Amino acid sequence: MPENPTTPTLAGNLPVSGNKPLRAHSERLLFVNYHYIRDPAQCAHPGIHPLAPSDFEAQVDWLAGCYHMATPEEAEAFVGGQAGLPGPSVILTFDDGMVDHQWALRQVLAPRGIRSVFFVNSKPLVERRAVMVHKVHWLRATSEPTEFQRAFMALLPPPWRPDEDPEMAAAAARIYVYDSPQDGRLKYLINFVLPYALMDEISSELLAQRGVSEAEFCDDLYMTEAAIKTLHQGGHRIGAHGHSHAPFTRLGDGLAADIEANIACLEAICGQPPGWVSYPYGRDWAIPEDAAGFCARFGFEFGLTLAVGWNQSGQEPFSLKRINTNEVAEVCDG
Ligand SMILES: [Zn+2]
Repeated sequence: MPENPTTPTLAGNLPVSGNKPLRAHSERLLFVNYHYIRDPAQCAHPGIHPLAPSDFEAQVDWLAGCYHMATPEEAEAFVGGQAGLPGPSVILTFDDGMVDHQWALRQVLAPRGIRSVFFVNSKPLVERRAVMVHKVHWLRATSEPTEFQRAFMALLPPPWRPDEDPEMAAAAARIYVYDSPQDGRLKYLINFVLPYALMDEISSELLAQRGVSEAEFCDDLYMTEAAIKTLHQGGHRIGAHGHSHAPFTRLGDGLAADIEANIACLEAICGQPPGWVSYPYGRDWAIPEDAAGFCARFGFEFGLTLAVGWNQSGQEPFSLKRINTNEVAEVCDG
């Protein structure tokens, strides 16, 4: 059961127990994040972990029944240490600017008066080039695993091929003990070795080999600028998520160009620069070492990770904790 048994209100009024406000012992904020929200049958690759639309709706209703659904303004004031919350509270976030999120808005958020934070990559909007990991998801979902590996490896320049590097093959075998040697080498390459730009090129080439137009792939997968503008005008926050979705820690000298392109695109759409950033991949290895310095450099007031847990007021606004949809049951005591 929640600490606050009073029925939460979406209007932001202070719930009371008897005549006493409950703030003192129950102020905490949970960010819950979503990516793909679609029929799992449409994306067979298990790594995607799509949430079925009906499960999304049920989860939102469950969260709203247990907790106060914070508005972006309330979350900002709480995180910044300027104001409290009317009890344990949840705010929803959506990463990667997918069309799935427009459905979520129309069918679930808008009818319930819930406002959220949407983190958008700009490369699909500006260049009509897809985020690398989405191309890989689609390729893996629509081909036999061995076929994807064969096609991927065939496009790797020789210096990167693990078969020719016994040390790399051994390192992959140590980390990916539950995968076949081929799977392990591929995962190791993608996650630790290959330059992001090279993987991006290879995944584009694989799409082309399959006869898929990357521009049309983007049209099918991502929200348009007009849709993002509508979100902004509806009181949702539009946050930065990188131009290309490359981990910020792996961009090297290209970091500023990637972030600034993202900011410029979102500012052109919304008429103001984004105050929020969600670090792509969200794990320790993908978060700038000096998150506060990073945010100050690019003008962000709030930074979201995927470190699991609730947030307290005024604590580390540049490395806020956040959970994915599949972690709700583990983290929530509602
Ligand atoms: Zn993302």
